[in-house]
Amino acid sequence: MTESSSNAQSTVSQLIVDREACLLAPYAMHSADTSGRRYPEALHRYRGPFQRDRDRIIHSAAYRRLAHKTQVFTGEMGDYHRTRLTHTQEVASIARSLGRALRLNEDLIEALALAHDIGHPPFGHAGQDTLDKCLAEEGGFNHNRQALRIVEYLETRYPNFPGLNLSREVLAGQATRVRDARRGGSPLLEVQVVDAADSVAYNTHDVDDALEVGLIELRQLFKVPLWSAAQRRVRKSYQDIAGDELKRAVLHELIEWQVSDLLEQTSRAISSHGVDSVAAVNKSPRLVRASSPIAEQKREMETFLHAHVYRHPLVLDMRREAQGYLCEMFERYSVEMRLLPAWFQSRCAREGVARTVGDYLGGMTDRFALQEHARLFKPFNRH
Ligand code: MG
Repeated sequence: MTESSSNAQSTVSQLIVDREACLLAPYAMHSADTSGRRYPEALHRYRGPFQRDRDRIIHSAAYRRLAHKTQVFTGEMGDYHRTRLTHTQEVASIARSLGRALRLNEDLIEALALAHDIGHPPFGHAGQDTLDKCLAEEGGFNHNRQALRIVEYLETRYPNFPGLNLSREVLAGQATRVRDARRGGSPLLEVQVVDAADSVAYNTHDVDDALEVGLIELRQLFKVPLWSAAQRRVRKSYQDIAGDELKRAVLHELIEWQVSDLLEQTSRAISSHGVDSVAAVNKSPRLVRASSPIAEQKREMETFLHAHVYRHPLVLDMRREAQGYLCEMFERYSVEMRLLPAWFQSRCAREGVARTVGDYLGGMTDRFALQEHARLFKPFNRH
């Protein structure tokens, strides 16, 4: 008996089925209705399919490496700011809060959230842009597509299949993040919730990190509508706080306020569209949305972040340096394949040299990429 026919017989699985029938809304993705996996697997005694997906992601090498990958700021800018891993955990935390309040499948939400950034190469978007150029003739490089490549193919953890053999719902959810892999209709609410949580998390923590690193000052934010509105809300409870205390209170309020707004809007949209099943979610427009005033203010916040943080001279310097390193390494490995680890060398014939080098570079952490660059190009400078 396999997972895709899990709604009968097995007692433990029946416990999961019953538990979800009790806790989840009719428009949530129930484990009993999963389309299963590409390589069918026997039911697990006590874990549902999406719990297994989450566990497989957590135990993957690509997930562990997120600890040493840049979000926006590099390690040279201190230890306070987020890494891809802590960003991922914040997204999972916010998405689960939304999911529980909406009575969605939290295991599926967590699996989707933990995998959503797993395809990021080293050095954040600078790394992605560089690999995209290097691989232009091979179809480019996109971190969302790379996440699918990792979980379907590059992780090798099981003897009987490549990749992590995740449930089709997790793969389809990640595919909605890839422009040319989207299918018709709206994705599951679990997928929509993760997208919304990603946006809440990065907007808020990029402001926090930029303040801490010193790229922006608190007074600049007073003119940003989303910040000033959150600050006014904080002032209703705390009239006299200032400086760091005010900053922390506003950051907290930004998340709390946006999550509450998403919950209100989404609950209203679910009832106004009469959504009572997964099929109805698919036929409806996207239901997990911020209210118009908050959506507009978020866009203004993003414009501010682009101008003052993502395009800050220090961040641009880091980008240039990282792009140079990755380009040099890409060229070197492409002509000297013997420098690649044996496992990657063995894949060159089947996958092509460029794609294989892209996979290898894409998997590197920032730190390993810097070490590897020094090994290849400055062998006598190492101490
Ligand atoms: Mg993200």
